Amino acid sequence: MFLYGNEEKQKNIEMIAKRIEVCEKCPLNLTRTNTVPGSGNVDSPIMFVGEGPGADEDALGEPFVGRAGQLLEKMLKEYAKLERNDVFITNIVKCRPPQNRVPTQEEVKSCQSYLDGQIIVIKPKIIVTLGNTPLYYFTGESKITQSRGRFFNWYGDIKIFPTFHPSYLLRNQSSTKGSPKWYAYLDMRIIGIMYRALKQGKDVEEVTKTVEEKIKSLENAGGSQT
Ligand code: SF4
Repeated sequence: MFLYGNEEKQKNIEMIAKRIEVCEKCPLNLTRTNTVPGSGNVDSPIMFVGEGPGADEDALGEPFVGRAGQLLEKMLKEYAKLERNDVFITNIVKCRPPQNRVPTQEEVKSCQSYLDGQIIVIKPKIIVTLGNTPLYYFTGESKITQSRGRFFNWYGDIKIFPTFHPSYLLRNQSSTKGSPKWYAYLDMRIIGIMYRALKQGKDVEEVTKTVEEKIKSLENAGGSQT
């Protein structure tokens, strides 16, 4: 588990990880190799939340380390101009669902207190949801294609910014205008802009209002996202 940033926050995130390590609250504990609590920068204003660990993540105990994780890292670098360690990355459930199936609502509910705890400690301004499971968890919406590029209010002042899961992008290789990849690249550019503005101390409401305009102009501009 790789953590960066404020020591007090790191200690609290490690404490949550220790609880996850011995957790038997749902049947996923029976088939896991390792728990995957999450990793990254505990001071980041932006947190990424995916669905659940896959085979590589289960083997290594780290989130997003397989092919999907490599794509996420590449998109962060190329489009958001961010390193993986600039943000905190975790999942809705902290143990791998067998055959990478979607976690059940009972499993999600059993695991909820760990994610809540991580959010309380890290206090992100924006949560980027990757794919449909975290989208539904945070917003009640179920269609990523209709929800991406929009902001949803969550508890406190936290904004939810949905985008595609990188494993979905691996199955949809086209990056022509209007394709999931094209939108995902655009979302990453927006995430980079928001990260830098929030790091400069700008208010999250102000930041999201400004980028809403930017999203519209990028969507209308067409062409490649490079
Ligand atoms: S998925 Fe969450 S609730 Fe289920 S065993 Fe793992 S840590 Fe516990």
